[in-house]
Amino acid sequence: MYKNLYLKKGKEESLERFHPWIFSGAVHHVEGNPEEGEVVRVLTADGDFIAVGHWQIGSIAVRVLDFEDREIDADYWTRRLDVAYGLRRSIGVAGHEGSDTYRLVHGEGDCLPGLVVDVYGRTAVMQAHSVGMHLARHEIAAALVKVTGGVVANVYYKSETTLPFKAALGPENGFILGGSTDNVATENGLKFHIDWLKGQKTGFFVDQRENRALLERYARGRNVLNMFCYTGGFSVYALRGGAELVHSVDSSAKAVDLTRANVALNFPGDTRHEAYAEDAFKYLDAMGHRYDLIILDPPAFAKHRDALRQALKGYTRLNAKAFEKIRPGGILFTFSCSQVVTKEQFRMAVFTAAAQSKRRVRILHQLHQPADHPINIYHPEGEYLKGLVLFVE
Ligand code: SAH
Repeated sequence: MYKNLYLKKGKEESLERFHPWIFSGAVHHVEGNPEEGEVVRVLTADGDFIAVGHWQIGSIAVRVLDFEDREIDADYWTRRLDVAYGLRRSIGVAGHEGSDTYRLVHGEGDCLPGLVVDVYGRTAVMQAHSVGMHLARHEIAAALVKVTGGVVANVYYKSETTLPFKAALGPENGFILGGSTDNVATENGLKFHIDWLKGQKTGFFVDQRENRALLERYARGRNVLNMFCYTGGFSVYALRGGAELVHSVDSSAKAVDLTRANVALNFPGDTRHEAYAEDAFKYLDAMGHRYDLIILDPPAFAKHRDALRQALKGYTRLNAKAFEKIRPGGILFTFSCSQVVTKEQFRMAVFTAAAQSKRRVRILHQLHQPADHPINIYHPEGEYLKGLVLFVE
C-alpha cells in the first residue's frame, strides 16, 4: 500500500490541468516518511485522490505517473511503454526501413517523467533522471523487450550522470538486459557509431534527425561548416547531399574523432571532409569568408533559469559571428536546445545578431524537435529544441 501525501489547500489546481510535477511548496505533509523514489498517493487537502507518482527530494517533490488510483507494477510499465511504442510505429520511426534510431520514451512527453529511452537497432539505451525510475529499471527493461516483441533485445542503463547526486545509489552504467557490441545504428540510410559507453546523452543526438535530412536538401555545391559537430551527424548528411566541402568543428577531440569515424563509415576516403578540434568562437573569428552553409548547434547555454540572460547574450554573440562571415546567399541553420530559452527569446537573440551584422536575413524554416520527442500538452516545458533556417543576402 502506497503512502499518502496531502497537498496544501488549493494546491491541486495544476494537477487538475494534468501538469505532471508537484513542487515541494505545495505539499502539506506525507504519511510514513517515504524513501526517495517510493510511489506515493497524492490527496487534496480534503482527502480526495488526485494522482500517483514518484516521491523525490528537491524542489519537485512528486513526478506524476498517473491520474488514476492504480498500482505502479509490471503491468503499468508494459501499458505505458506499449502506448509509447505504438506512437513511434504509427508515425513511422519504429519498424522503418533504413532507420533504426529513434527515441522511444521522452519523459513527460510520454507521461513517464524522469525516463528517457533511445533505441539504436536492437539496443535500447535507458536514462533515469529520478530515483523512482532508477528503482523501476529492471521492470522497465523487461517491459521494453516485451512491447517491442523482442526487437529490442539489449538494454543498456546509462544513468551515472543523470541521477540526482544526493541519491547515493551508485548507479553503474552497463547492460541490465542482454549485451551487444554492435553499436552501429542507421538513420535515414546513413550509419553512425553510437558511443553509449562514454558519449554524451545516450550516445547520439537523435533529436536532429529531421533537421539533418532538411540540411541535406540544401547542401549541393555548398561549402559547409558544421560547428559543434559532436558525432558529425550534419556533416554526413551534407556529404550525401553533394556538398563541395564539409568542415566539422568541435572543442572535444573525442567528438572530432567520432565525426571522422562516422564520415569514414559512410564515405571512406572522401577528401571533401576535414575535422578540427577547436573552440567555436576562436574558429569563427579566424575562419574568413569561405562558407555558404553554416550549422550552429551548440550545447545548452542555459541549464537553469538564472543563466537565461547570459545564455541569450551567448546566442547573439555566436550568431553574430556567423552572420558576419557567411557568404552572400548563404544559409544558416541555427539551434538552441536550452529548455529555459523560449522560441521567441531565441528568435529575438538571433534577430539582434542579424541586425548587428546589417545583413538582410529571411527565415526559411522554423525547426523544432521531432515527433518521437513529443511535448505533453499539459507540460509546455517539454519543448526544448528550436531552430531557424535563415537565408543571408
Ligand atoms: N550537432 C550535434 C550535437 C551538438 S552537441 C549533433 O547533431 O549530433 C554540442 C557539442 O558542442 C558537443 O560535442 C561539445 O563538445 C561541443 N562544444 C561545447 N563547447 C564548445 C565550444 N566552445 N566550441 C566548440 N565546440 C563546443
